[in-house]
Amino acid sequence: MGQAMVAITAEDCTGCDLCIPHCPFEALLPLLQCPPGFKKRPIIVRDEACVGCLSCIGSCPTDALHEIVIPLSSKQSPLLNPGEHPSTEIVIRWGPEGISSV
Ligand code: SF4
Ligand code: SF4
Repeated sequence: MGQAMVAITAEDCTGCDLCIPHCPFEALLPLLQCPPGFKKRPIIVRDEACVGCLSCIGSCPTDALHEIVIPLSSKQSPLLNPGEHPSTEIVIRWGPEGISSV
């Protein structure tokens, strides 16, 4: 059995940020800088932090989050072969000023 992880179908993601507080491992975060052509910084899955718990799956109103399975033998697994990762913004998820309280 391979390792489960989560991916985002970019064309289905509205950037609503609802999924961010649903990840206990801070694996869902917005990019630090907005790429050309985007109105808002898109959310990405930080592969190095995603443990495949699937807690986030049901939090997306547009079903943009989906499970992917990575074979343990795969050399493409980002957990087995960590490389360069894009910079993401730190999001305060809890407390009076946290995203989950709005
Ligand atoms: S599968 Fe778990 S660890 Fe991965 S992004 Fe979703 S909630 Fe976070
Ligand atoms: S909840 Fe879904 S649509 Fe909203 S930012 Fe997350 S992946 Fe994108």
